[in-house]
Parts: sequence; C-alpha cells; structure tokens
Amino acid sequence: MDFRIGHGYDVHALADDLKLVLGGVEIPYTKGLVAHSDGDVAIHAVCDALLGAAALGDIGLHFPDTSSDYSGIDSKILLHRTAAMVREKGYEIGNVDCTIRMQRPKLRPFIDAMRRALADAMGVDDDRVSVKATTTEHLGFEGREEGVSVSAVALIFRP
Ligand code: MG
Repeated sequence: MDFRIGHGYDVHALADDLKLVLGGVEIPYTKGLVAHSDGDVAIHAVCDALLGAAALGDIGLHFPDTSSDYSGIDSKILLHRTAAMVREKGYEIGNVDCTIRMQRPKLRPFIDAMRRALADAMGVDDDRVSVKATTTEHLGFEGREEGVSVSAVALIFRP
C-alpha cells in the first residue's frame, strides 16, 4: 500500500460584521474572516494538507484568489474538488485532522457539525475526520482576536 501524508496551514484576519464560516459551518459571532472566498480557514488548511499529500501543489495554485470564479465561493466546493483531484491521482482519503486556533467564541458546540460538513464534502465517513479547537491563552494574533489560524494533516493511500 502506498501511503502519503500532507500538512496544511492557513491564516485569515478577523473583522467586525462579517460572516464567520469555519469547517463548513456558519457560526454566530460578531466577527468574521476577511477573504476572497467565504474565508473558511479550516477548509483551506485541509485542502492544502490533501494537496500536499498528493504532491499536487497548493490551494492558491488550483483556486487563485485573483480569479473572480472564486469570489465569495463556499469553500466546501473547493474541498470537494480537491478530494476529486486526489482520487484522480489514484488515492483514497485515509483521515484528516485539524486544529483551529481561536480565542473566542467557544467552538465545542459546532465541532461535530464541522466534522460532518468536511466529511460530506470529501465523500468519506465522519469517523475519518477530526476537528479540534484551542485558544492560545490570549497570546499572539489569535489570542488578540486579530485572526484565526488552522493547521491540518491528511493521510491518503493508494490501495
Ligand atoms: Mg485561505
């Protein structure tokens, strides 16, 4: 069996009065993520982990933020297309794990919905998807609520 792992990392700035979408789920909050797309920093990190595992470049290569095609796009569409690219190269998705670093709000109530949304977009069981969240104890840009960062890893395999 041919196993590959990949890593992804993304950051977006927070600003007042924008929609907050994380892991494919809209979260009620006073701030949202600034971006060309819907700003779903969790999905972007997962896409980069999958692309990295398959050595297919990165999200900016496939979905450039200079293209009007991706303006305001639902990032679940990007994840769906990314999973298709991985399968076109002959791989199946083993599992994905990501960690969201954000001071507020508490993400616990939304974690299972995020796992389901990511799993649906990739066409895998929920059990293959893990979403974790942590504060940074008020340290750094995440702790000051200036932005949100997410790191992700993915394992893919060719049966
Ligand atoms: Mg991004």
